[in-house]
Amino acid sequence: MTTVLVVEDHPMNRKLFRDILEFRFDVAESAEDARELLRDLTPDLILMDVQLPGMDGLSFTRELKADPRTAPVPVVAVSAHALAQNVEKARAVGCAEYITKPITDDPFVFLDRLSGYVERASRLGARD
Ligand code: MN
Repeated sequence: MTTVLVVEDHPMNRKLFRDILEFRFDVAESAEDARELLRDLTPDLILMDVQLPGMDGLSFTRELKADPRTAPVPVVAVSAHALAQNVEKARAVGCAEYITKPITDDPFVFLDRLSGYVERASRLGARD
């Protein structure tokens, strides 16, 4: 079963993800919460809000990429900032993809890009 971990502090965005995601998924409101969840959970994909209370999403991604257990899980950064330098920063810490908010602008494009990553992740056979 494909699982997605959503790390998102904004209740509205969490509701939105809940409404449009077709995968089974878990939700964390902060990097600290997500770190707890990841002790028992290996998702196929992590949807990572960049702006989080406490540790920010990119620092957390760097941490995940440094851990051999979580390093293979693709991280898709979600941010309101669309500047090239923001995208660069996300790539530099190991994010596979960078999606700009609001995703409501085009939820279908968003879902499409996401399914691509989930399919690729399961095709790699990393986990089932
Ligand atoms: Mn946020």
